[in-house]
Amino acid sequence: MIPQKELWSARTVIHTAMQILFPPRCGGCGARGAWICDGCASDIRDYAQNCFFCETHTLSTRVCEACAKRFAIEAIYWPWKYNNEKTHKIIGDYKYKGLRGAGPTLAKYLRQTVIERLPDDDWQVLPIPIHKSKERERGYNQSYLLARELGLPMIGRALVRSKATPPQARMNSRKERFESMRNAFEVQRPQDIKDKAILLIDDVATTGATLSEAARLLKRVGARRIVAGVLAHG
Ligand SMILES: [Zn+2]
Ligand SMILES: [Zn+2]
Repeated sequence: MIPQKELWSARTVIHTAMQILFPPRCGGCGARGAWICDGCASDIRDYAQNCFFCETHTLSTRVCEACAKRFAIEAIYWPWKYNNEKTHKIIGDYKYKGLRGAGPTLAKYLRQTVIERLPDDDWQVLPIPIHKSKERERGYNQSYLLARELGLPMIGRALVRSKATPPQARMNSRKERFESMRNAFEVQRPQDIKDKAILLIDDVATTGATLSEAARLLKRVGARRIVAGVLAHG
């Protein structure tokens, strides 16, 4: 086994080399110097205080009490609105153009929003898994890379995606999205879930079908409480 410390330094060397070979440019406006510039990050900020699911007014949890029960998630935190050309471009580049180097920069905004609002507890971070075939094709799971940057303990492999679901973007109705996610996950390590407070992480959430399907399964195997963090909603 390679010691963790050396792994980290290898990662830093690769990261630095990538920065030299492919200097970052803002996905929103093309400015050099960062994967997202301060101006674009504030342009796409979502200040909504409404329930993620039903849009009734809530405070910092962004999930109302009725929806928390129904969808098994008591709060969802997100910094950006997704229904925006810049956000699509920034997250799309990260996910589909293999710009994995952007992960830590995007995660910084997610971390700020999550840490600001997360109630006190022993949180374990669980990135939403993607299907093996997709991870092979893309070379990484974008949610795992975001989750890793949060600085909280991870239970990275407790859940697996057992069903390769079609891209949600191609589905029209909310009902279709929820139905396509049915039984999409399996719990691999129930002992990592039982009695735990779990923070689910994903890149984007629109209807919340993916988060909610995962949350309901985790509750069934004994998770104590569940919240979620995503980069963008809309
Ligand atoms: Zn910009
Ligand atoms: Zn609601």
